[in-house]
Formats: sequence, structure tokens, C-alpha cells
Amino acid sequence: MKFDATRYAELQSIIASLPNPVVALDRQEIVVACNDAARDLAPALRIGEPFSLAWRTPSLLAAMRAVAATGTSQKLELWDRVPAERWHEVHIAGVGQATSPDPFGILLMVFHDITPLRRSEEMRADFVANASHELRTPLASLLGFIETLQGKARDDPNARERFLAIMHAQARRMTRLIDDLLSLSRIELKEHVRPDGEVELLGVVRQVIDMMQTLARDRGVEIQTAMTAEPVYVRGDRDELIRVFENLVENALKYAASGKRVDLTVTPDNSEVAIAVRDYGPGIAPEHLPRLTERFYRVDAVHSRSEGGTGLGLALVKHILSHHGGRLSIASTPGAGATFIAHLPLVREGAAMPT
Ligand code: ADP
Repeated sequence: MKFDATRYAELQSIIASLPNPVVALDRQEIVVACNDAARDLAPALRIGEPFSLAWRTPSLLAAMRAVAATGTSQKLELWDRVPAERWHEVHIAGVGQATSPDPFGILLMVFHDITPLRRSEEMRADFVANASHELRTPLASLLGFIETLQGKARDDPNARERFLAIMHAQARRMTRLIDDLLSLSRIELKEHVRPDGEVELLGVVRQVIDMMQTLARDRGVEIQTAMTAEPVYVRGDRDELIRVFENLVENALKYAASGKRVDLTVTPDNSEVAIAVRDYGPGIAPEHLPRLTERFYRVDAVHSRSEGGTGLGLALVKHILSHHGGRLSIASTPGAGATFIAHLPLVREGAAMPT
């Protein structure tokens, strides 16, 4: 019998209006209706032609045939790698037995894109694995030293002093890691709620420079500033903003001390203020730049750990700036230093608010 599309016109118009990819088949496995979203997934889908010409995935065809044979609905997951990795959940059900013009009714396939869900599950699993690994290393070293102190080194006061100092450093590293993890999760929770306080930025930057003077002296680095004379106001959370500049300046002192100099500039421009931390150290190769704000990403893990780094600093900076409606940009010329710029929406420049 020749395929008669007019019999399915009403079904087609309903399916066309649905946002999810949907395909309807008759019992001969002929496509009787489908929407654009379904055609995006399988461009060869044609009304009036066999479904299996357009979609060859064996598990999908087997599930479709099982529903046709038993009338029992099925749910399955499809995974595709081409053109990009994506996951779909597919529901297949036999419908319209009684009222459809086809005596056997039709099969309805509804696709649901679960790629974002799978991605976030993968990210969470990676994150837990990374965090556990970061904690396990100092913990293993602490346990090792405790055992040594209980055994061989029990009566050796010199070894005891030395080991206790190392144990102290390891315990501090774990504390720092947990502090950073908690800060990250706190900021993520409120990332979409803008802070409502008003903060004067030049004061924040000066406070951070004061806090960093000891480290700068230890590393032989001079911090130079170029700031506007007028106060600069942004909407924000003072402690979070201090954290941003503390992280950026500390990184410049830790990883770029060889440049002997760090420049801090505050430049208001129309609706935005840019706070740049520039160093003259070794710089960062271009392939690392887009990944620096990922959690636990380090260019040189050994160097970072020896500096007490957790690998979470720039992830925190990125989330705090995003919480403030701002962003971080990073530029570097290997061999000539790096520049980290925090961009924040400007409330206004000028005299203090009347109280
Ligand atoms: P960490 O705790 O390791 O310092 P961050 O997230 O703050 O973590 O930084 C991630 C990595 O980026 C660092 O481990 C380091 O390799 C690199 N990095 C950050 N700032 C600089 C800089 N100013 N110069 C060179 N490398 C840097």
C-alpha cells in the first residue's frame, strides 16, 4: 500500500510543535511524522521512508522492534561520539491503538538530551578524585612520620624536631586545601546572586599590597602601583575581592619572582574597571592559558606544591569575579612575564557616597 502522509497530518503538526526530538513510526517501521529537532539528530530522516535507513544504531532498532512486538514501553540511553560526544535518553512507546487510522497504532520515540547531566556527573567524579588525591598525599606522609616517631625515631630528639616541622607543614597544606574547597563551594552556591555591598577598590588593593609586603621582601620583588587618584566604587563583597587580588599578587610573587618586579594598575574605563597584576617572570606557555582557572590545574605541579599551592587559587578568582558580574583575562609572553586582569563592573568613580 502506498504511504499516505495526509493520514498523519494532525500527528505531524503536534510533533512539529514539540521542543524535544520526536519520531513516529507505523508498524512497518516507516517514519510517519518527525520534527526538525529529530532531523538535527538524524539528517537522513524522511517521512514515508523506513526509519532504519536514517538511524542504524543496533540498540535503538532492537528496542523499537521489542516495543512493536510486545507493546511494552522501553527506555534506553544512546551515546554518540560524532560530531561531538553526546548522550540521549530515548523513550519508545506504542500509542494510538484504538483511534489511529492504522489498525496497529504507531510507535512514538521521544529523545531527551542528557549530555549536560553526564558532563556534570563526570566533572563531579573528576573533582572528587582530584580532591581525594590532593588530601591523600599529605595524609600518607603524616601517617608515615607518626609511625617513624612511634618506632625508630622514638628516642632521637633531632629527628623528632625535624619530622614535627614537616608534619606541621603537611597539616597546614591540608587545612589550606580544605579552606579553599569550602570557599569555592560557598561562592558557587551564591554565584548567581550579585553582592549588594559597595566597596572602594583602591583601599582593597592597598590592603592587599600591605599584606604581601613580607613575602615580596623575602622574594626580592618590588610591587609598583599605578592607580587613579579618585576612589573607585564597585558593587561587591570586600573579603571576596581581597581574596582575588591576594591570589593574583601571591602567584606573581611565587611563580615570577625572577622578574624582580610586579606592577599593579587600576584603570577605570566607562562602565568597567580593570585591575591588572603584571609580572616579569618566566610567563606561561599559550597552551596552558585557557586551562589555568580549572580546579587543580597547574603548569608545574611540583613547583606549585613546594610553594604551598592548592591548584584552586585561580578557580576561586574566576568564580569570585563571576559572582561580581566580572571576569578574568590572562595574557602572557613566555620569557617576558604574565598579566592577569580582573574586570569588574564600575558603580562610579569619584567622591565617597554621602552617608
Ligand atoms: P596554585 O595553588 O598552584 O598556585 P593557582 O590556581 O593559583 O594554583 O594557579 C595555577 C597555576 O598557574 C600555578 O600552579 C602556576 O603553574 C600557574 N601560574 C599562576 N600564576 C602564575 C604567574 N604569575 N606566572 C607563572 N605561572 C603562574
